[in-house]
Amino acid sequence: MTNIFNNDAKLFDYDILLIDVYGVIKGGNGLIQGVEERLESLVKAGIKVIILSNATQRTSDSIKSFAKMGLQKDVHFHDYITSGEMAFEMISNGELFNKEGYTKFCQFGIPRKDLFENSKYQETDINEAEFFYISTPMIGAEAYKKQKPELKENLFLSRINAEEDKYDSTIIDPFIPELKEISKHKLPAFCANPDYIANETAKTGEINFVIRQGGTAKAYKDLGGEVTEVGKPYSEIYDYAYNLLERKYGISKEELKTKKIAMIGDTIRTDIQGAINSTNELGIKVDSFLTLTGVSAKDIDKDIIDRGDDTEIRKSLNSDKPTYIIKSFGL
Ligand SMILES: [Mg+2]
Repeated sequence: MTNIFNNDAKLFDYDILLIDVYGVIKGGNGLIQGVEERLESLVKAGIKVIILSNATQRTSDSIKSFAKMGLQKDVHFHDYITSGEMAFEMISNGELFNKEGYTKFCQFGIPRKDLFENSKYQETDINEAEFFYISTPMIGAEAYKKQKPELKENLFLSRINAEEDKYDSTIIDPFIPELKEISKHKLPAFCANPDYIANETAKTGEINFVIRQGGTAKAYKDLGGEVTEVGKPYSEIYDYAYNLLERKYGISKEELKTKKIAMIGDTIRTDIQGAINSTNELGIKVDSFLTLTGVSAKDIDKDIIDRGDDTEIRKSLNSDKPTYIIKSFGL
């Protein structure tokens, strides 16, 4: 049997590592044990470490959050790319729905004004809107209470679940009536985080999986709506990373084809599939490491993880897509 516990060493075979954040570096309770040392050892070994995250945060804010956790640029990683930074660029250069000429939008979820500031896009109500931005779903009374009173007044969207916490936070069902309402207006959507779920720590210290923007996007698509998405698994974010490697480190795309590159992630649908899409669509081969500290591990029996049998784990995951499986990215 192949044991996954021997796979960590293979990380050092690579020239460039693209690394996801949630479920790999960070869990619901802060840094995953040993990731600091792991990142430092990879950087010391001369490997280019690029963080590639589906998060709507800007890159600069993400680097600040990393610093607060003790992760420093050029010590633990070289660069940080978020799908939010890509979205911000699309918005600030007017590329988003440019072909269609759409500029008026409304938001679904916790409002994100900063992404649209100083751009040609203007927030309006749903009747005037030409598209809508899928923000973080407002799950439960806590998120709703945190909103400013004036916002609460105007929030038509995504507050269906605000008054009660009776729903499982990983299901989209409470938001379906509102999405149906939007779909009557036939509005296309924009989503800057394709993740279905994320893990968050509740006040009780308990780790909860909660629905994220990609879950809303999927439900809207299921209702027949159109969604433009940026982030993993779409190859554009990989291309964005390659452009950055060329611009900042002088590694051309031709040269990238000769490099050993791998994506490390906890989600098959985004991280691992993204590596496959990069290989197939951009002609730049990316291997993948699936870690069992995040979303994918949630469906596997703990005993199976502890045994570490590669075949048994792949069977539980119902997937043979990852090049390698590792128990944790931490040491
Ligand atoms: Mg993740």
